[in-house]
Amino acid sequence: MIRANILRRIRPQKVSSRLKSDKPDEYSSESGIKTFSDDRVSSNLKANPDEVLSADKLVDELDKPMKASDLEKRGADEIYEKFMEMKDYDGDGRLQRNTYARLQAFGLQAGSIAPHIIMDENHADFLIIGGGLAGNVLANRIYNACQSVGITMSGRYFEEQFSTRPDLEPPKIVILEKDPDGVIERSHLKPGISRVQWTNENNIGMAKASMRFLRELEVELAVLGEQPPEINFTPQGTLLLGTKADQAHMLESYYTQEKCETECRLYRGKALKRMFPWLNTDDIDMASYSLEEEGFFDTRELLEAFKRNNISKGIKYVKGELSTFNPIHCDEDFDRKDRTVSSIGNNKFAKSYATMTTPQGKVPINYRVNECHVKVDDFPIDVPISFFRAFLCTGSSTASVLEDSGLVFDEDPEMTSMQRSLIPIQKRIRNNFLLFCPDLPVLDMPILVDPDGIVLKREDFDGHYVVMYHPRNDENPEIKGGDPDVDWQLWHEVVKPKLIHRVPAFKNHEVKAAWCNTVDVNTFDHNPIVGAHPYWRSISLFCGFGGHGLAQMIGAADFFAMKEYNPFYDQQSFKNDWRYKTAKFDVQAYNPMRLLLRYPLREQYTWS
Ligand SMILES: Cc1cc2nc3c(=O)[nH]c(=O)nc-3n(C[C@H](O)[C@H](O)[C@H](O)COP(=O)(O)OP(=O)(O)OC[C@H]3O[C@@H](n4cnc5c(N)ncnc54)[C@H](O)[C@@H]3O)c2cc1C
Repeated sequence: MIRANILRRIRPQKVSSRLKSDKPDEYSSESGIKTFSDDRVSSNLKANPDEVLSADKLVDELDKPMKASDLEKRGADEIYEKFMEMKDYDGDGRLQRNTYARLQAFGLQAGSIAPHIIMDENHADFLIIGGGLAGNVLANRIYNACQSVGITMSGRYFEEQFSTRPDLEPPKIVILEKDPDGVIERSHLKPGISRVQWTNENNIGMAKASMRFLRELEVELAVLGEQPPEINFTPQGTLLLGTKADQAHMLESYYTQEKCETECRLYRGKALKRMFPWLNTDDIDMASYSLEEEGFFDTRELLEAFKRNNISKGIKYVKGELSTFNPIHCDEDFDRKDRTVSSIGNNKFAKSYATMTTPQGKVPINYRVNECHVKVDDFPIDVPISFFRAFLCTGSSTASVLEDSGLVFDEDPEMTSMQRSLIPIQKRIRNNFLLFCPDLPVLDMPILVDPDGIVLKREDFDGHYVVMYHPRNDENPEIKGGDPDVDWQLWHEVVKPKLIHRVPAFKNHEVKAAWCNTVDVNTFDHNPIVGAHPYWRSISLFCGFGGHGLAQMIGAADFFAMKEYNPFYDQQSFKNDWRYKTAKFDVQAYNPMRLLLRYPLREQYTWS
């Protein structure tokens, strides 16, 4: 505990003022520290982690018995004092001579900065946990929402309304990712299909907003002096097939889509056969096909484009794993603005922070959380980061992250089960196969979604196709199972027969590659979860996108950020902004409160 407190007291402003006066010669060294890549941090943050700080020495320092009066100036604080104080630098920003000796005493080298200091000065206005597409998109849109009211205004707004930061700087956004290389690798393996054919009006609005963004990507994610982002968007409609049992919901979805001004068509019988002669439609009753606003794109390029733009905006990337949150009980919260001495005794506050409405009645919120601990490589203890708002963009790990990070208490069984009901995210394995099929001479091949869960996408014009299996019955343990290896039995017994049944030309095929991926499925209603956690108000969830995340999350992030962090969003002038006027989309529909109140959001096309 003492260690954590000591580290927490490291004063951020001094670090940043130090960095302004850098001299490249003094600060550069070979390898970068725990950030996505070297060029994302200023050169003065580069150092060899092994030489940065002798972990043993630091632990020794911290473990020394201290007098209470010494406490403020010992351990990491002392290192900070000796190393970082302005007085250790001359007018040109160079380290003064005697500083070298002092640094050596602590096992530090000139130009080296301890990892815990690098972690964005141990404070983030917005801490995004998870650096996948969701985290990158959300960080980008939050920054934009704040910036669109002007730096100074957003700063003042933050000072008064949100953060406790005493300056007028733009919000400090940090993206925390435990496996940055893996993110890039995995993003390559997703087909990046975007579609607007949904049953729920909000889902249609969200997909349309994402499409608008993708169309204007060159402007939205432009970076001065760099090539415009190019995600190779290929316009291509999705053909959703349905059996007799699907007829009612397909009609309903069609009318909703029409209401939302999407260009969709329904086909049946001969018309369907004529339109897609290579398709076996014997057991198909109805098909829905979109004529615009759908297609597929290069997912890796999209992720890279977001990252480049984020870096240009000053959003910081940190390599580290969230280990625990640090909740504070209201009785022990000495930072509370409204503190009063109550009848319970000195320094005790009888009042809870707020109340939460549940089906059982109102529940007091007695805890708040504005700090977490992060595991970073080569550092002996978890680093504390304080935050104003944290966002869980942790995909299929969201449930385990929430549960294992100290936010689900065991003290009250009712509360525990209620907390658990708020995280119905489960990991599902998806098998993907790249096929070569020379006998399918179709240029205008739609993205095909079979009622049995086969999804087929043309990869190029040379006969390559990606086949995915998204079964309707996700409870099947084979699908649910944790084995990340390709399920070849599934391919031979389920996927291949279904594929050949639907598209007979696939009798002649060659499997070129196969891989697995996981998706974060919200088992409550199969829709995304976007919004503040009903109990932990400073933590928001941005997950549960299932197999549709790429297509939906841009719109979701844009509207969420605007609504939450732009003070003018509700004003009339903003509503007349053409970008937001056209989409009928209420991000509130995705609020986690619906999980608590057991009020599912209806969507029929959940598996596809
Ligand atoms: C095979 C497949 C095909 C898909 N096809 C499409 C498609 O065609 N169209 C479409 O729209 N969507 C598609 N998707 C869905 C889409 O890819 C996902 O919805 C999206 O990638 C989810 O992104 P995410 O950032 O939420 O999650 P992830 O990409 O899983 O990222 C979560 C990140 O959080 C990090 N993390 C976890 N725990 C911690 C921690 N404790 N500390 C720090 N970091 C942590 C992880 O390392 C991970 O990088 C597909 C998905 C799959 C698997």
